[in-house]
Amino acid sequence: MNILLLGSGGREHALAWKMAASPLVEKLYCAPGNAGIAQEAQIVALDPSDRAAVIAFCKEKRIDLVVVGPEAPLCAGIVDNLEAAGIKTFGPSKKAAQLEGSKGFTKDICRAHNIPTAAYERFTAAAPAKDYVRERGAPIVVKDDGLAAGKGVVVAETLDQALDAIDMMFEGGLGEAGAEVVIEEFLTGEEASFFALCDGTIAIPLASAQDHKRVGDGDTGPNTGGMGAYSPAPVVTADMTKRTMSEIIEPTLRAMAAMGSPFKGVLFAGLMITKDGPKLIEYNVRFGDPETQVLMLRLMSDLVPALLASRDGVLKNFDLRWYDDAALTVVMAANGYPGDYAKGSVIEGLNDAAQVEGVEIFHAGTKAADGKILANGGRVLNVCGLGKTVAEAQNRAYQAVDLIRWSGGFCRRDIGRRAIEREIK
Ligand code: AMP
Repeated sequence: MNILLLGSGGREHALAWKMAASPLVEKLYCAPGNAGIAQEAQIVALDPSDRAAVIAFCKEKRIDLVVVGPEAPLCAGIVDNLEAAGIKTFGPSKKAAQLEGSKGFTKDICRAHNIPTAAYERFTAAAPAKDYVRERGAPIVVKDDGLAAGKGVVVAETLDQALDAIDMMFEGGLGEAGAEVVIEEFLTGEEASFFALCDGTIAIPLASAQDHKRVGDGDTGPNTGGMGAYSPAPVVTADMTKRTMSEIIEPTLRAMAAMGSPFKGVLFAGLMITKDGPKLIEYNVRFGDPETQVLMLRLMSDLVPALLASRDGVLKNFDLRWYDDAALTVVMAANGYPGDYAKGSVIEGLNDAAQVEGVEIFHAGTKAADGKILANGGRVLNVCGLGKTVAEAQNRAYQAVDLIRWSGGFCRRDIGRRAIEREIK
């Protein structure tokens, strides 16, 4: 098969690494890619938002499957466009991608189908939104309805913070987003990332994972795209998996199918594991980043037939196998991230770091120039370790981190902390 992967982050490097190992793959292309992905795939200078160019490329290279990494092209309808041109594409249609593209859409599905989630209301103007938060009190969560690249959620600890967030969102503080705001109950518990591969009707759970969203050690500082992750997540027990499938994922699939927009692709549920069981915080309609990096390291089965079966609607009786080993990834980010940061600093020591036993390094934002690897984004590297325990995986990942010479970057030093505390107990 000839496969085209769209995207340029650590998620895509991990997907490329896994797909390149498939005996089914003849030629793997990636657009726009990065310096690490270039080791697994042929990089092509295609802009994924230029649909005509993507379609022409697929026809010329006889692409058998397109795999879309990030949410923006999915929400913009790339799957509909490519499929209409006769090109098989892994991922949800534009309508099905609303599960990520509109928080209000997802909340309404939860309400209509009794899917456990935080209590909420939707607002299109500031004044009634403010009345609602005054009535409900803090802590309370204010969310922009649309895609805001991880910046659209304010967990307000005080009433004033909630009121300011409402003003900020309705005054266009998030750019185009901001026409609608969802206000919801603050949930307490432990968060986990739950992934299910879906074919429109059937869903198969993938291995569990947990990520670390805050920039600083001890879960402090601003939210980021994710500073590290590990798998398995001890909080997602077999019982939690069963409940999440039957109470959250499966009713969602039935609801989407009944609306005439069956969901195909990876449905990624951000969960809060509360004392009453799993509750849905939000859906994403694609693989998580950096969770995918640890999932791909633990996946024993060939990924390619699984993606094809999802696209073709034949996941029934499909089986995915996983290694028992734990995997952990440490994100190395450019100094200043998630605020302003500089690009272009030189990264050295990557070959030495990659020699550490059980270590795999995925690139999240790099480019190659004059034989050097340069930082080219906010999140730059994913240094991953495999081990018999999360503690061993962590140890190996940090050994590798310490061999990387990069003055322009930093990382958290406590990835995996909660799981390791549980292992010690
Ligand atoms: P989201 O982008 O919806 O995943 O939200 C980002 C982060 O905000 C989540 O990972 C949670 O830590 C937090 N969050 C979102 N919604 C809630 C909620 N209803 N209660 C508590 N925390 C929340």
